[in-house]
Amino acid sequence: MYSKAYLFPQKLRYHGRTTVNRARAKVALSVCSWFEERKKYSDIMPDTGFYQLTEPTRKLVKEQYDLDVDTVKACPCERSRSEPCDCEGATPIYIECSPAYFYNIWHTHFSDVRTTRKSLMQRDDQH
Ligand SMILES: [Zn+2]
Repeated sequence: MYSKAYLFPQKLRYHGRTTVNRARAKVALSVCSWFEERKKYSDIMPDTGFYQLTEPTRKLVKEQYDLDVDTVKACPCERSRSEPCDCEGATPIYIECSPAYFYNIWHTHFSDVRTTRKSLMQRDDQH
């Protein structure tokens, strides 16, 4: 590992790392703004103060995110204000990410956002 590092010029390695960090920051921002958006439209549970999502499992929450990555786009056209448009110039708002990364951001920054399953855990256990 040491000899490999020695082979690469310092400048190149540094550049590569910055690019990766920048890409990662962009994805983090994407996931965070998606959760912020979801929080705006979620009910707050009066007993716990948690935001309750409509999806019963976190896997389905990730699937909704993936769907929004494909469909939610920013576009100056009239149609995009009420529904997804397919203009060529439309820019995706959210960036694709792995489930592990998605759950990690969720756990770290949005632990007050819960699925329905989690809040109904006690009842589910009885089955
Ligand atoms: Zn459009």
